[in-house]
Formats: sequence, C-alpha cells, structure tokens
Amino acid sequence: MAEVHTRQFRAETRKVLNILTHSLYTNREIFLRELLSNASDALEKVRFMQSKGESVRDADLPLEIRITLDRENKTLSVADTGVGMTEEEMIENLGTIAKSGSEQFLKDREKDAPHPKGPAEHTEEADKPEPNAEATDAGEEDRLAPDDAPRSDASQIIGHFGIGFYSVFMVADKVEVTSVSATGDGSAHVWTSDGNGAFTIRRLSAEEAKDLKRGTAVRAHLKEDAADFLEKFRIESVIRRHSNFLPFPILIDGERFNTTPALWREPKFSIKKEQYDDFYRYLTYDSKPPLDVIHLSVDAPVQFTTLIFIPDSEQDLFREQRDEWGLDLYVRRVLIARDNRDLIPNYLAFLKGVVDTEDLPLNISRETLQENVVLRKISQTIVRQVLAHLERMAKNDREKYAAFWKLHGKYFKFAFNDFVHRDRVAPLMRFATTWEEEGKSGELTSFDDYVNRMKAEQKHIWYIAAPSREAALLNPHFERFRRKGIEALILTDAVDEFALEGLGKYRDHEFKSVEQAAAADLDAFPDVEDAAPKAAPLEGEDKTSFDRLVERVKAILGDQVKDVRISDRLAGSPALLASEDGVSSSMEKFMRVMQKDDSIPKKILELNPDHPLLRALLRIYKANAEDPLVESITRSLFDNTLLLDGYLNDPYAMAERSLKLMGEAAGWYADLRKL
Ligand code: ADP
Ligand code: MG
Repeated sequence: MAEVHTRQFRAETRKVLNILTHSLYTNREIFLRELLSNASDALEKVRFMQSKGESVRDADLPLEIRITLDRENKTLSVADTGVGMTEEEMIENLGTIAKSGSEQFLKDREKDAPHPKGPAEHTEEADKPEPNAEATDAGEEDRLAPDDAPRSDASQIIGHFGIGFYSVFMVADKVEVTSVSATGDGSAHVWTSDGNGAFTIRRLSAEEAKDLKRGTAVRAHLKEDAADFLEKFRIESVIRRHSNFLPFPILIDGERFNTTPALWREPKFSIKKEQYDDFYRYLTYDSKPPLDVIHLSVDAPVQFTTLIFIPDSEQDLFREQRDEWGLDLYVRRVLIARDNRDLIPNYLAFLKGVVDTEDLPLNISRETLQENVVLRKISQTIVRQVLAHLERMAKNDREKYAAFWKLHGKYFKFAFNDFVHRDRVAPLMRFATTWEEEGKSGELTSFDDYVNRMKAEQKHIWYIAAPSREAALLNPHFERFRRKGIEALILTDAVDEFALEGLGKYRDHEFKSVEQAAAADLDAFPDVEDAAPKAAPLEGEDKTSFDRLVERVKAILGDQVKDVRISDRLAGSPALLASEDGVSSSMEKFMRVMQKDDSIPKKILELNPDHPLLRALLRIYKANAEDPLVESITRSLFDNTLLLDGYLNDPYAMAERSLKLMGEAAGWYADLRKL
C-alpha cells in the first residue's frame, strides 16, 4: 500500500474552505472558469518551456483540456496536459490560500456578520472557532435555507480574495487532484480533500501510474444540488460565458468544443475585415458591421492588447442601454469583467470591444479594479489612441467622420468634461451652422472652420440654440446676424450649451449666444444683406401714442411678461422675447426640465415699432384705444413669439384665438371688397 500523508490546512485556509463549502452562493458556475484558467496556465507554461527548448515529459502530448462528465458517479473532471505538480508543489500550491487574501476574507466576514448582506453567508459551522471534519450535514442545511435568504455572489468572493482553486468546493464535497509533473521523476500523486479540516496526498503505485501522462486532472464529486454541472449544455454555456477565448482546445466527453480564437491576440496584418466583422457580431449581436476598428498592442507603460469597435448603429446609452457600456476586460484571455467602465470615459461609451492584459492577476474583483493603477494607465492610453484615431479620420476621411459624428456625437460632446484632453477634443466636435456653402446647406462645421470664416474684427464665436436649423434661421435674435453676414453655430442638443459653456472658448474666441449680443458687438460690421425697407421713424404724436400702446400691451399681457419695451434690434420680425439675466433660452428650458417646471418663464417682450403689423396696430389704437382688436392681435402676436422661442403654452386657446382672428379678417375683407 502506498504511503498516505494527511495534513491539516492552515487555520485561515481551513476557515475559508469551511465557509466556501457550507455557504450558499449565487453564480457558483465560475468555479469552472477557475479550473479552466488554471489548466490553461499550466499548458501555457509547457508551451513556454518548449519554446525555450527545455525538455518536458511526454513531449509529444497535445496541449489540451479535457472535461469529463460522469453522471453515474456524479463527478466532473477537468484534465490538462500542462506542467503538472510534484508532491511538494501540491502541498505548496493547493495547501494554502494566499495568506493576505484569506485573512482579509475572514476579517470582512466578521465585520459584516451582523448585516444580512455580508460578503458570504454565515452558517453555524463557520462561526465555530474550530471547524472540523464532522461538519457534514451543512449541505443539507443549505438546501433547506429559505429561498429569500440573502446570498452572496461567488464571483465577488473568488475575485476579491484570490481563492481560485478552492472555489470548486462550492459545488463539490470531495475533490481529487491527480498530477504528474512535466519535470519530475514521473511519479504521480493524488491530492484529496473534502474541503474541511485536512487534505491527504498519496503517491500512486507504479502499477496505478503506468497509464498516466504529464499534467493534472481535477476530479470534483459534485454536491447533490450541483447536479446541473453534469449536463453538457450547462457546461458549454458556462464556458461560452466565461472562458470562450482560451487558447487551447477544450474537449467535453471527447468532443471538441468550439472556442473562438482571441482575435485581439493575432497580428493585425494577418486579420481580414470579415474576421473583425464576425468578432464584432459575436460581441455585440449588431447586425451591421462596425464603422471602424482600432486594434492595438501596447507594451508600455503597461502591457495590453485591445480591439475596439466604433459601431455603425446608434446606441441608446441615455435610456435602455444606459448600464451596458464599457469594454470587456480579459486577463490572459480569461474574461474578468464584462462592460468595465473604468477602461473608458463616459464620452467614449459608444465604443465596444475588449482589453486583454498580462499585468493584472486573474483573481481581481470589481472593487479592487476601481482603484487599480494598471487599469487607469490602460484607460489613459486607450483615450489617447482613440482620440488620435478620430483625429486621423476627421482629417483623411471626412465622410466617415461625419457618419461617426451623426451616430455618436451626442455622447462625444460630453468630452468637454475631460480637462486633460480639452485641447484635443474641442477640434473634434461638430455643430450645425447658419452658414451655408453653395449646395451644401445642413453640413456640420468644426470650430476651426468657423474661425477660418470669421470676420476680421469678430471676437466671439456666436451660437444660437434652436430645435432645428430652420427654426434657428427664423429666430428673431438671429436677424441682425443674418443682415451682417455673421455666422452662428446652431445648438440643437441640450448638452451643446453645456459643452460650449464648459469649453468656455476656442482659440481665444469666447462662445456667446446671439440672444446676449449687445448692439456694440455688431455695430462695427456693415450690412451685407438688404435690411427690410425701413419705415419712416415714428415722430411727434405717433411716438407718444406708440409709448401708450406699449403700456396697453403690457396691461393686456399682465403677468405673462416681465416688461414690454420698444426694440432697437429688430427689422423683419414684429417682436421677440428677451431674458435679462443672461441665461439663454435653451439653457433655461433645460433647467426647467430638470426641475420639472413646465410653467412658461416670464420674459421681456420687445416690439418693433417699424414693423407693418405694429404700425397698423398703432392706427387702430389711435382711433380707439379700447378697440377689442388691439387685445386679440396683442395676444396672437404674443402666442407667435412664444412659439418661436420654443414654448407652446396652451395650444387650444391659441388655435381658438387665431381662428377667431381669421374669421374676423375674412369677414372684413369680404365686406371691404363688397364680395
Ligand atoms: P492562482 O491560479 O491565482 O495561482 P489558484 O488557487 O487558482 O490560484 O491555484 C493555486 C495554484 O495551484 C496555482 O498557482 C498553480 O500553481 C496550482 N495549480 C492549480 N491548478 C493547476 C493545474 N491544473 N496544473 C498545475 N498547477 C495547478
Ligand atoms: Mg487560478
């Protein structure tokens, strides 16, 4: 009979194991990810040794992983042809959990003990100071736990405390590890434990070991409630989810399982467009191929490979997909975190892709990831590379860049927040403009193009917030600018004004709303467009009558307006609404939406005394100050200015007023023409 050594686990290891064995976890399936990545690591080591020309046992053995499901004996085995372990290595590697990890684990559990949502569930056993081998009924107890009992996510536990291999005890009540070292004397050992106090190591007899080759086989005797891991489809879906890109063949019950090659690890020049497209489809389920691909391999300051796609379809990151952004993080081809948001800033949230690094440990948790320096460096490099890519695209392929902006510009504009890269993101932004090139109206413009077209004396970059280009061109505030041939950017998105406000200026040119333009800002520029033929200025009695009309209008509108004034900035329009406090209308609207305020803000109504409508109104008013037509025209005029400013107060009342006025006008016309 071969020699059997029984050894006790170290105290902390024992406690951690006991908790793993007897607690309920969600997401237990990740034990398989841990076993497969250990197998893959072991195979990688053999490949490395062979590449250096070192001799290994059974050199011709294919590098592969075999999963065997034995329903009769209720066991699941993961066997590899990797480096294997000698007896000493088994004691060393499988006998202890990294000290710091397990201590921290236990401390955290104690701290969280009074709370129902601690990192792991307490069992009676775990709380005993000396857990031991008699704790066999706990599995039974677990199954009896009420369904609403709080459970911890196993991946958090595993990730946080570096207890990779031991995670198998979440699903197994006994584990045997058989191993033949690639460099040892050919002897084979079996490590056995039930996850409680102790493990044994037995050296196999020559007879028992005669068919064994290099590598390790982990055989898990599954707990009763883990029988689903005997189903092939279950195993396949777990692999697809967590271990889809392992670089070695995986066989399940002898059948080859199709893993996907980790495309990002292949040299760029050898990859065809279709391969990128396929991978993108696999990643996103998007039916359209990506607009662009960024494939990078970086060695410093950290080593990583990344494959990033710019989708050719609109993302919905403000609503349904709001939590589904980030890049997938792999450590040596093993998926560590899906949609990791620490890898890209929010203004690049439309990007899809993967990052794979050698510079992180496999067992790293979400919390630890957040403060991780390696991750931060990766993210910084990605931002710089993506910006450089976009700069090149904007310069060399305007059409593609326009397509990019149309799809993703609404997110990219949030880059105004990125103070570090401000000088690089601003030139990449695009806005609608009132300027139009022959046959090209509606094209977007960059700040640089705007500045190049600016008038010699022009200081500001003017903008106008409007729901559309058409609305902007009709806006009375823009009238003077059109007359003088001064361009304004058209801000159609709520974020636009924040972006400009955040940026403050571009190449020394401050951004300013056309609503805030003082006469002095524009006086220096001559008219380029014929102003509407100006009526002779009001004089004498007409002038004082107009002042009284203004008072009358104020009385009619009452507290709907802050004030009514005579305007000096209008030509073609009869009136406009102005705000005094320097807040532009769209910003104000945005703030009102945020505050759920749907009342209409009080503004100053400016009247154009030279406009035919107001001249006619003046005549009516002069003839009879109490004529009801003065009131109905005033109200309709106010309706119109509100509408142009983007407010629609009471559409029913408005339609009624306008119908009444039309009815009257038609009647008068018919009478007048004696029809
Ligand atoms: P980690 O993989 O992070 O080192 P694990 O708990 O998963 O931690 O594994 C502990 C150690 O056990 C590994 O570092 C390795 O030395 C050894 N080991 C586990 N599985 C295998 C295997 N299949 N082949 C060889 N060594 C293994
Ligand atoms: Mg591991």
